[in-house]
Amino acid sequence: MAPLVRFAPSPTGYLHIGNARPALLNALFARARGGRFLLRLDDTDRERSTEAYAAAVEEDLAWLGIVPDLRARQSDRVAAYDAAADSLRAQGRLYACYETPEELERRRKRQLGRGLPPIYDRAALTLTAEERAAFEAEGRRPHWRFKLDHRTITWADLVRGEAHIDCASLSDPVLVRADGSYLYTLPSVVDDAEMGVTHVIRGEDHVTNTGVQVQIFETLGHAPPVFGHHNLLTTADGEGLSKRLGHLSLRGLREAGYEPAAIRSLAVLTGSAEAVRPVASLDDLARLVDLAHISRAPARFDPHDLDALNARLVHEMPFAEARERLLALGIPPVAAEPFWQAVRANLGKVAEAEDWWRVVAGPVEPALADEAVIAAAVATIPAEPWGPETWKDWAGAVRERTGAKGKALFMPLRLALTGLDHGPDLAGLLPLIGHERAERRLRGETA
Ligand code: GLU
Repeated sequence: MAPLVRFAPSPTGYLHIGNARPALLNALFARARGGRFLLRLDDTDRERSTEAYAAAVEEDLAWLGIVPDLRARQSDRVAAYDAAADSLRAQGRLYACYETPEELERRRKRQLGRGLPPIYDRAALTLTAEERAAFEAEGRRPHWRFKLDHRTITWADLVRGEAHIDCASLSDPVLVRADGSYLYTLPSVVDDAEMGVTHVIRGEDHVTNTGVQVQIFETLGHAPPVFGHHNLLTTADGEGLSKRLGHLSLRGLREAGYEPAAIRSLAVLTGSAEAVRPVASLDDLARLVDLAHISRAPARFDPHDLDALNARLVHEMPFAEARERLLALGIPPVAAEPFWQAVRANLGKVAEAEDWWRVVAGPVEPALADEAVIAAAVATIPAEPWGPETWKDWAGAVRERTGAKGKALFMPLRLALTGLDHGPDLAGLLPLIGHERAERRLRGETA
């Protein structure tokens, strides 16, 4: 059966590079196997979920190259969760609790003080009907906990191999809040089961949830899917990434001019068995990732690595891929291709092409550093048309006249022709600058 995977963000913030990891690992897993990718918005938290964030999730995934095959929203499916909760209640596996957060906190402290693990003591299970009625009369509404079987749940994890969670060491999880809304745990199981999700690939922060959720799958009469828990992306100092980390949000990175392929390569290859390197296409990346070879250690990355990855991608970017963006920067269509070939090796980001276009088209304020070299250049300026050989021929003529060589020859020419002491190979730039502008610059005019 072709796999169905899902990426299930809560639309409560912008996706960041750490979220790109599960999104991509799922998308690549499906891609390599002819499977499908479901985008499920886990939006049961009505207060924090917004339409704007939901739209941003779609947009940011599309930018990464991920177009979901299927879409779902948990807010549309409350009836299914209600039915599942009823089934759990009928089986005696979902019980009403009336403790306030303060009461729970006091109990927790007492347990810790006695050196006991702070596990919910199931006091609510022994409430009598009268006690319950008294709470209700006080105006308390129950929240609902899942009664865990105190046994060890094991599964063959796609990343971690044989994995297990001892559910006796866990508190019975709250599945339904006092206001009747659902926490993530139950809706996720109901959706995965009813939507036919075959593989749940998510961060290792969900390993404990898996123990709980496997029990819920089983109690609801469903076979659990296959699970894989990947390591989390952290910055070099081991700091986790939160959705609020604006500068590493996917849109922040996009606005800063990074290529999606740079983000993809970093997000996927960090902490894998493969060296982090630029991989331009999703298909190539899909061939490289193997969940079984992802490391167990945190996937540490340095955001500065993105610059090097990005530059390498830009240096090799074919013109066809850059074309639209160059035209959007105002570079004329006739010049765009030779210009791209001339400058791409000097770019860290595509948008920097604009700076070099200004050097071509002007106005450039020339810097005249060596009178003899400049005078010789004016005297030997070649007739048009200018082509790839022009620079070599012209520099050769200037060398013959002046005896200047190497840096003493090239630097004054570069400074005069571009106003800068660095930049792309002049052989490529010169035909674009053209005779007229070149001559004016050599004469010291801003052109
Ligand atoms: N909404 C959950 C999260 O973002 C989904 C976790 C899961 O993949 O099951 O953490």
